[in-house]
Amino acid sequence: TLPSVAFLGLGHMGGPMAANLVKAGYAVTGFDPVPAAAEQATKDGVTVVASAVEAVGSADVVVTMLPNGRLVLDLYDEILPTAKADALFVDSSTIDVADAREAASRAQAAGHRAIDAPVSGGVAGATAGTLAFMVGGSEDDFGSAQPLLEVMGRKVVHCGGSGNGQAAKICNNMILGVSMIAISEAFVLGEKLGLDNQALFDVASNASGQCWALTSNCPVPGPVPTTPANHDYQPGFAVALMDKDLGLASNAVRTNGVDAELGLRAAELYHRFNEGGGGGLDFSAIINDIRTRSTE
Ligand code: NAD
Repeated sequence: TLPSVAFLGLGHMGGPMAANLVKAGYAVTGFDPVPAAAEQATKDGVTVVASAVEAVGSADVVVTMLPNGRLVLDLYDEILPTAKADALFVDSSTIDVADAREAASRAQAAGHRAIDAPVSGGVAGATAGTLAFMVGGSEDDFGSAQPLLEVMGRKVVHCGGSGNGQAAKICNNMILGVSMIAISEAFVLGEKLGLDNQALFDVASNASGQCWALTSNCPVPGPVPTTPANHDYQPGFAVALMDKDLGLASNAVRTNGVDAELGLRAAELYHRFNEGGGGGLDFSAIINDIRTRSTE
């Protein structure tokens, strides 16, 4: 029989993830303080209850999908004392590596098992059940969580011990933020030099400038017809989320004394763009910010 699941945080991501567990036959009990989230989850077949403690009840697995690390730690303090002995805690929120390690150690100290399992793939991936999970925790706990994660995702990678899922996620997104800015700067420079966007794409996509930001999320309309650039920069991966993830990466860069000048600068540029009103756009829209700031 399938393990029973408590799902806490039924928002944009957690809602469809919980719905996919229900579809796969899991008994899911959930809680979210926002009424609209609770109502949608009820329609999706989640047994929604009035508190996190009640949702956790005697669940075998407790999944959390919350906005930040502070909320995860506070919620863990609330639910760890009454959760079933040896329950498996799976935090899929994107949070600081240090917070993830702290959350897992608090869970273990209370007699439970814990992994961090942040995701990429966005709301579309959560809905389609095609998320990528990056997991930090022991081999055994990873193995126990794997079947459940494979219901919600398509790619599940064990990245090492506690916190390493979060570490992998922020390192990847730091690469992504820096590379999108690099690609965007190159297109704007090319435009100034009279180089056609398509010509630069044809050269760089077959040369050493090739990368995902260019060939799968090309920031100029035209060369790759499916990218957000062709649809008024509707996300995709929103600037607000890139700002958040690069903020977490910057924290880790500073805490660990890494000389990551480009990563820190990318975080600053996305933060400025987000604060300036770009938050709801796809992160490739940073090219328009770069073009606007460029002088004649
Ligand atoms: P969201 O704000 O839509 O959902 C979070 C939900 O958590 C809200 O409904 C909120 O009411 C609920 N919540 C807050 N405190 C709670 C508590 N104590 N108990 C139960 N529920 C509580 O956010 P989201 O877009 O679903 O993102 C969730 C996490 O996933 C974030 O950490 C985000 O960085 C990460 N993430 C999001 C995306 C995306 O595209 N949206 C992609 C990858 C990762």
